Amino acid sequence: MASEKPNRSLERLEDGDRDSSAESPTGDRPIAVELEDVTKRYAGTTAVDGVSLSVREGEFFTLVGPSGCGKTTTLRLIAGFESATDGAVRFHGEDVTGVPPEARDVGVVFQNYALFPHMSVGENVAYGLNFADPPGGVSDDERVRELLELVDLEGMQDREPDRLSGGQQQRVAIARALAPGPDVLLLDEPMSALDAQLRERLRIQVRAIQKELGITTVYVTHDQEEALAISDRVAVMRAGTPEQVATPQDIYRRPETRFVAEFVGDNNVFDGTVRSLDGDGLASIDVGPETFTVAPGKRDVAVGRALALCVRPENLIVAADPSDGLETENATTATVRSAEFLGETTRVHLEWHGQELLVRTRNPLSGDVLVGFDPEDAHVVAVDRTV
Ligand code: ATP
Repeated sequence: MASEKPNRSLERLEDGDRDSSAESPTGDRPIAVELEDVTKRYAGTTAVDGVSLSVREGEFFTLVGPSGCGKTTTLRLIAGFESATDGAVRFHGEDVTGVPPEARDVGVVFQNYALFPHMSVGENVAYGLNFADPPGGVSDDERVRELLELVDLEGMQDREPDRLSGGQQQRVAIARALAPGPDVLLLDEPMSALDAQLRERLRIQVRAIQKELGITTVYVTHDQEEALAISDRVAVMRAGTPEQVATPQDIYRRPETRFVAEFVGDNNVFDGTVRSLDGDGLASIDVGPETFTVAPGKRDVAVGRALALCVRPENLIVAADPSDGLETENATTATVRSAEFLGETTRVHLEWHGQELLVRTRNPLSGDVLVGFDPEDAHVVAVDRTV
């Protein structure tokens, strides 16, 4: 994994259009959890490679990335289950790098629920109180009732865990983690054992619980859609390091690197070279045999520079019959290769000069079609030569 470390010396295109970006709603709060240049090495592997990031009080912060990119290790370093090889972990400015997990005031939820099968639901939740007095001066029983209500399982305290659905069991695990009133909630792929429908329902519930309590939350998932749906901010990790940390809107609309552009959602990425710049802020980019016009915003593009041009499938406009023409710029002919019916739309795979393009459409397409895009709908990122 360490061997596929991205080329960090590669200059990134300057992102000058941040002022239009979405702000995290917790952007002005104090920092609750901070990692400064944290590295975790195992024999032969650098799992986490110089990570610096800050999570604000009450923020829902998600680590997302492909398998083996260091998400779980980063979470375990925050929990205290792993000790950092280098760097510092701080909670509210206080160094906790050498502090054991039980003294860190964190609640942890794992993928596999880890409920005690011989204990009832209520006993499982009360177990979370074994090492702490319930917050607010209430009795243990009251606290268990409060928590079961919070996770929408009121009246279920006498059930055995194996008589609950996967989603219900995970909510018991969340209630148990929240029982002592931790300062930070850490969740490691809590929904990956559940089916798609249940995941969507549970993620709405988890977000609602987090908002109700205002608890600082760090969440690990490999599912980029889940990360976008649930988070205030997302760190897209690659090879042990966050490649971009931003709001879901910015991650999707303004990826800073080609890796982020391709990892999060479908994208059409073209390698190109800047041919010319005009006075209206438009750039002409040579891409294969075509020249596309794009609006790179305030990004620093210079004539002759190599870059990658990204156009989301939903921003590619299609004419099923090329003789109809297209009322958009950057029109070019492509050939339909296959289609996947997704219900609301169909994702069509096109071939364009040896490259695959994806479009989303409601109309059937076949043979040659015309595709094009508005210059404002293209996004420009630096070429990453390691991809
Ligand atoms: P996944 O989504 O597959 O769970 P991840 O992004 O959470 O992956 P980590 O589990 O943090 O990734 O692992 C990062 C890297 O560190 C991987 O290459 C993994 O094999 C390695 N690693 C993790 N734990 C250990 C360990 N205890 N000993 C040795 N190597 C480890």
